[in-house]
Amino acid sequence: MRVLILGGTTEASAIAAALAGDGRIRPVLSLAGRTRAPVLPAIPARRGGFGGVDGLAEYLRAHEIAALIDATHPFAAQISRNAVAAAAMAGVPLLTVLRPAWTPCPGDRWTEAADMPAAAQALGAKPRRVFLTIGQQELAPFTLVPWHSYLVRSVEPPDPALLPPTSRYLTARGPFREDDEHRLLQQDGIEFLVTKNSGGAATAPKLAAARALGVRVVMVARPPPPMGETVPDAAAAMAWLDHVAATWKRGV
Ligand code: NAP
Repeated sequence: MRVLILGGTTEASAIAAALAGDGRIRPVLSLAGRTRAPVLPAIPARRGGFGGVDGLAEYLRAHEIAALIDATHPFAAQISRNAVAAAAMAGVPLLTVLRPAWTPCPGDRWTEAADMPAAAQALGAKPRRVFLTIGQQELAPFTLVPWHSYLVRSVEPPDPALLPPTSRYLTARGPFREDDEHRLLQQDGIEFLVTKNSGGAATAPKLAAARALGVRVVMVARPPPPMGETVPDAAAAMAWLDHVAATWKRGV
């Protein structure tokens, strides 16, 4: 049974690892191709967009995909919408893996922002020392509030032309440790941390460190979740796949 996994997340990698060597299933992991040196699993992988809904539906048909798992990032809304539409067009069962969002704990000083421009505005009129952990694609709103000084962290170096004027960057890939995050926030005298509400354990230690140091957090809310069946983690996705595989074998 051929299975397409839309990836780019810890959960997708965990599903890929669990399926490596599974004799029942022939999985393919799909990556958008944003990261130049991705950590690849021991299953076949493809890179790059499909060409919208029609392209993805055509891929599902042409490769006789029997099940589609959307394990993309909670903020990758376009590909998730495409997956819902393409799976319906091609008549392929779809499961979305969506890890739970973070919620504030006692002691947290969070401001919720609807999107990245709102997050930039939430930093206020007074110059602040800001830690941006939002990836490299959405820095533009912060160039419009150039009186803050920024520390930018992303997996790969951002395009220098997109950086706010007073900024420096560091490249790092999670998981991160709380004591390292604590040290980083302290060393740089960080007053505000800006993050997407990605959820998950790998990048949560920055929130614990911010709580401990009284650093304010601007938390960017998620886009609306895609329609259809959703599970919170890779283990639940494997259970769903077991069920689909059993049904598929019987030719139902
Ligand atoms: P997006 O805005 O939802 O997708 C834009 C386009 O990129 C899609 O329409 C699709 O192109 C292509 N695409 C996205 N994910 C793909 C995948 N797994 N395989 C093949 N094509 C894909 O997505 P994004 O926010 O740019 O995220 C891109 C990738 O980075 C995803 O795999 C996501 O899991 C990962 N990621 C995103 C974030 C984030 O904050 N957005 C954070 C960490 C990881 P076509 O329409 O041509 O098919």
